[in-house]
Amino acid sequence: MRIRPAICSAAMTALVAASFAAAPSASSATPDVPSISAADLLRMAHVGAPPDGVSLEIHADFPIEAPLVIDDVSYTAITATVTSSGLAETTGAIAADGTAEAAGAQQVEECSDSFFTPTGRRWKADDLPIVWVFRRGSVPGAVGLYRTQHALRTAHQSWVISRSNCGEADRIEFDFDFGGLTTKEIDYDGANVVDFGSLDGAVAINYTWYEGTRILESDLRFNKNDYRWTNREGGRNRYQVVNVAAHELGHQIGLDDLGDPHGGLTMFGRVLRGEVSKVTLGMGDIRGATLLTP
Ligand SMILES: [Zn+2]
Repeated sequence: MRIRPAICSAAMTALVAASFAAAPSASSATPDVPSISAADLLRMAHVGAPPDGVSLEIHADFPIEAPLVIDDVSYTAITATVTSSGLAETTGAIAADGTAEAAGAQQVEECSDSFFTPTGRRWKADDLPIVWVFRRGSVPGAVGLYRTQHALRTAHQSWVISRSNCGEADRIEFDFDFGGLTTKEIDYDGANVVDFGSLDGAVAINYTWYEGTRILESDLRFNKNDYRWTNREGGRNRYQVVNVAAHELGHQIGLDDLGDPHGGLTMFGRVLRGEVSKVTLGMGDIRGATLLTP
């Protein structure tokens, strides 16, 4: 088995390719999704193994121009879990090209598409609001701390206020609260950290630590080493912080990535440079979050 994130930089590709090893053949992944070992997942996500009794769900989103390539198949999103005993299972994967049938299909319009996929894990009512903190000093210099904080708060608010074009406002009662700046890292440490940092190939990764079906903590990292970010309107060659954040926060609520033809939804597993459309939720995003809100 060959696994390599197809990063634009040849040097980075070589570096990352060298770091991946074949997953054990005994993997329990379903036939539709690629199997990746726990060690490779943790390396890709730049995170340590979860502690005893806790599992970690990783949602990794890759750019269409540099997808994750496993056995010659390209993926723009994968969902995988790692247990404290080192077992790994890939539970979802969005192919970069989709099937030939899906690639030719029209994307469903966001307000007509009520599709969503729950991950099977959710927060308990006692844990709301989800207090998130932003890691001090992690924002790329050219992007700006205050604009970035504003973009992140806007993305969280999309889920809190059901921001949409569909006339379905105020249905979600999920609640996020900004807790200020932190020095904490991406780790299972009791703080829901958002930061910019290093990842192996992914544009962004959302980390969900859980026990059974209960989410215990969720962190979010944007890859600032391989990709350029912006908070300015019309920044077409860079990833919009608010757009990618809105998508990743759906993972924090307990929603999984969607493939074709769900391109109108925030949870569509393909984030593009310059894109801002994920900031407004579609019907499926609203219905899914409403169902998952404790
Ligand atoms: Zn995703």
